[in-house]
Amino acid sequence: MRKDGLTEHEGRVMDALQAAWNEFAKLEITHTSDMTDFTNGIHQCQQILGMRVLQRDYPEGYPIKVKKLKPTHKCIDCGYTISHNKPWIIDGLRCNKCSGTVVPLSMLPKKSSPPGSENK
Ligand SMILES: [Zn+2]
Repeated sequence: MRKDGLTEHEGRVMDALQAAWNEFAKLEITHTSDMTDFTNGIHQCQQILGMRVLQRDYPEGYPIKVKKLKPTHKCIDCGYTISHNKPWIIDGLRCNKCSGTVVPLSMLPKKSSPPGSENK
C-alpha cells in the first residue's frame, strides 16, 4: 500500500515520472529553459495523478469528468466495473477500487436462466 493514495498502477506511473526526471537531470543542458520546462511538465503530470486521489476520496468536490462509458471489465474480487479503451486486454489491469484482478466482461459466463425457464 502506497502512502500517496495512488493505486498500484497509478503509482507505477508516478515512479516512472520521477525516474524520467532523474534521468533527464543527468543530460547535458542544451537550452537555458531545459530544466524549468521539463520540471513543469513533470509537475503537471504529477498533479493529474494527485487529482485522481481527490476524485476517489472526494467525488462530490472533484467529480470525474468523462462521459459514462460502457463497462468493459469487472473485478473478480469486489465486482467493481471499469471501462478500458482495449476491451479485450487481459494482463496488467487492476481494479480502481480494490487493486484486485479485473477480467474482460466477454470472458465472464453469461447469467444463466432460472431453472425451468428454458422451455418457455
Ligand atoms: Zn475490486
